[in-house]
Amino acid sequence: MRVLHWTVAMRLIQPPNQGRPAVPFLPSNDNSHRGSAHMKIVAVEPFILHLPLTADSISDSTHSITHWGVVGTRIVTSDGLEGYGFTGTHADLASDRLITSCIRDCYAPLLIGEDAVEQTRLWKKLARSPALQWVGRAGITHLALAAVDVALWDLRAKQAGLPLWKFLGGATTGKVEAYNTDIGWLSFTQQQLLDGSRRAVEVDGFTRIKLKVGHDNPNVDIARLTAVREAVGPAIRIAIDGNGKWDLPTCLRFVAAARDLDIFWFEEPLWYDDVGSHAALARASAIPVALGEQLYTVDAFRGFIEAGAVAYVQPDVTRLGGITEYIQVADLALAYRLPVAPHAGEMSQVHVHLSHWHPASSILEYIPWIKDHFVEPIRVEAGIYQRPEQPGAGTTPLAASMERYGKSIG
Ligand SMILES: [Mg+2]
Repeated sequence: MRVLHWTVAMRLIQPPNQGRPAVPFLPSNDNSHRGSAHMKIVAVEPFILHLPLTADSISDSTHSITHWGVVGTRIVTSDGLEGYGFTGTHADLASDRLITSCIRDCYAPLLIGEDAVEQTRLWKKLARSPALQWVGRAGITHLALAAVDVALWDLRAKQAGLPLWKFLGGATTGKVEAYNTDIGWLSFTQQQLLDGSRRAVEVDGFTRIKLKVGHDNPNVDIARLTAVREAVGPAIRIAIDGNGKWDLPTCLRFVAAARDLDIFWFEEPLWYDDVGSHAALARASAIPVALGEQLYTVDAFRGFIEAGAVAYVQPDVTRLGGITEYIQVADLALAYRLPVAPHAGEMSQVHVHLSHWHPASSILEYIPWIKDHFVEPIRVEAGIYQRPEQPGAGTTPLAASMERYGKSIG
């Protein structure tokens, strides 16, 4: 088993406060190796980045954060090609290290020497490894699997010399509309909410925005939503997101009070895994239910879809087992003629490819926190996502960001 590369990585990775480089490798966008029939994996090197938000901190009904965790891996092949994949976290170093430990200690030995071209077989080898399946068909092992799987797709698209959306089969939608979430945090005052919403619409050209809800008294949320609706006018699509805080009676009272606000969807109104309550709310409310960012498997999505508990399906490659399982979910949604609107756990660096490609997608979240740390950042013009042009999955980080924001994997 060749473990030299990540053993070296462990030795060289130092906490930033020791004044030395935090990562041992510099990302490369060299595509001179494209076209090989075989891609032998020679190194699997996990990394942790803690990237600051564009605001000092933000909160929704459940979370408060100052940084976004980009916890992932570089996978290197014998001909020198590099693939990058990552999951998204709240930048908590202790739990982030559980993910990198899983990549380093559990998945890397299963990958070294394998042919990265054989994507489907490798996904099954990792996801259905009996020992790993025993300890986690969700959670840490699945987040680690997501990072590895995305890195393998990045490798394959780079080998082909194509952006992922083209490698998968080409664009099926004329445009992918962006909705701006970064103006609607629950921690914002009503005036900040109004200023941000107006700026997004009038200056930046967004026609879709999303606002967080979830105050202890839902009437506070109704007042904030009413003010924003008056400020942006009737043509703007306003979605809302409860992040799973409220119970069913609270949601029922809320949707009755919000009836005249033309809410585009109500995202995660209830506890993430509660199929029955979401189905009950969907039956009782004219506001479509959106969910999926906390679901780990295609089986979980199937439960919600078959129960009629979701209208807008929101898979996330960083929580599902990567792109491979995302495709299963998107295809399932398509079979039910349900729209797919991915959750931006990777801040849309990968989902922009998948949304241009998959025929169930036409709406994608926009949060600009980490885009400028990548070789090819996402681009939104007048509320429309532009198609990426460079080979790969959009996951190659900038060397400077790796050096500045890298953390020791322990
Ligand atoms: Mg959400």
